[in-house]
Amino acid sequence: MHRRIVFLVLFAVATVLAPVAFLKGQGATPPAQTESISTLSATEQFDPIAATNAYLAKVPPDKKAKSDAYFEGGYWLILWDFLAPAIVFLLLLSTGWSARMRDLAERITRFKPVHTFLYWAQFLVLTSLLTFPLGVYEGYIREQKYGLATQTFGPWLGDQLKGLGLGVLLGGLLMVALYGIVRRLPRTWWIWGAIASLVFAAFIALIAPVFIAPLFNKYTRLEDPAIRDPILSMARANGISAQDVFVQDASRQSTRISAFVTGFLGTERIVLNDNLLKRCSVAEIESVMGHEMGHYVMHHVYKGLMFFSIVIVLGFAFLRRASEGAFRRWGEKWRVHGASDLAALPLFALLILTYLFVLTPAFNNYSRVEEYEADIFGLNAARQPDAEAEVDLKLADYRKLDPSPLEEYLFYDHPSGRARIYAAMRWKAEHLK
Ligand SMILES: [Zn+2]
Repeated sequence: MHRRIVFLVLFAVATVLAPVAFLKGQGATPPAQTESISTLSATEQFDPIAATNAYLAKVPPDKKAKSDAYFEGGYWLILWDFLAPAIVFLLLLSTGWSARMRDLAERITRFKPVHTFLYWAQFLVLTSLLTFPLGVYEGYIREQKYGLATQTFGPWLGDQLKGLGLGVLLGGLLMVALYGIVRRLPRTWWIWGAIASLVFAAFIALIAPVFIAPLFNKYTRLEDPAIRDPILSMARANGISAQDVFVQDASRQSTRISAFVTGFLGTERIVLNDNLLKRCSVAEIESVMGHEMGHYVMHHVYKGLMFFSIVIVLGFAFLRRASEGAFRRWGEKWRVHGASDLAALPLFALLILTYLFVLTPAFNNYSRVEEYEADIFGLNAARQPDAEAEVDLKLADYRKLDPSPLEEYLFYDHPSGRARIYAAMRWKAEHLK
């Protein structure tokens, strides 16, 4: 009964958040493609729909087919990325492996925090090994096939191992804290666990730009005044006291163009990657950086943490309810004795994975609305609608340009190329008047 209520709450959250976000973002959705496309003449008004279609028509059909196929393949990967670990977690429970990993950790030492850490390390390494084939396909083979990867297998594997090491270390610290809480507060652990997880997530967001990101890429200050100065001028005009713009050597891993804002409480950085620098004009770079400044000025990092806090608290409430039912039903069979038992971790992982999978459209909608806001901010700040449209076409290397509204609603964490170009052309039309 309780589980049904929790599920209802989750679905309510997903279905409430998603359409609200969708309606908010709907300004980005242009009228249907079938609307009549008037040909432009000097005397006629600039038609944003025709201009959008003209930009979309610039992409050759074979290139469009390729990027559509890549992006649509990603829809299925959402499902496999859920199913593969879910099967592994169920296997660990039903074969008694999880109980054996716990017994091993408990034999090595008397100290409970060390038990937790040892169990976590075994769990993460084993899970990573068992889902490794999917990881290789998704992260390496598929990226190579579509010409998006620049790494050979060795360096790629090196990055994966670094990630795994970080997962063992940082995840281990979180697990030690969480299991400490579950042992001491058997009734209220879910509240305190949610708070501890939030503090941890905020801590990671704080240190990531300074200590984690440099493990995978080099970040240097952008020195070229022809590019840096207009960016810093735009930053000053929008109340951002940035002294530097950072360049990430993303070409070490891929050909994707990208820029982002990371960090908070003083570790904020506006970063553009070297692919963007190599492949885009100054006007295009300005339009991208206008977008990134929008994230910064509109406090998207802080708002994201607030959104995340709701997700985490509801997630922990769900964990508690759902796990109690599972312990009653299968606890004996799995040799798992309750929430404080380390061997229950695959069950918690399975429940959280399911929770996040169900909420995927809500996350996408949340993100897409913020991205749309940043687009509008960027248009007003950079005043480069045509450069914006050109960049949107370049992003089509890895994002389907012209999806159906349902596809965009479910799967897009950024507005589609069509929506973004239309927003730019609409801005242009209004400013030509
Ligand atoms: Zn963005």
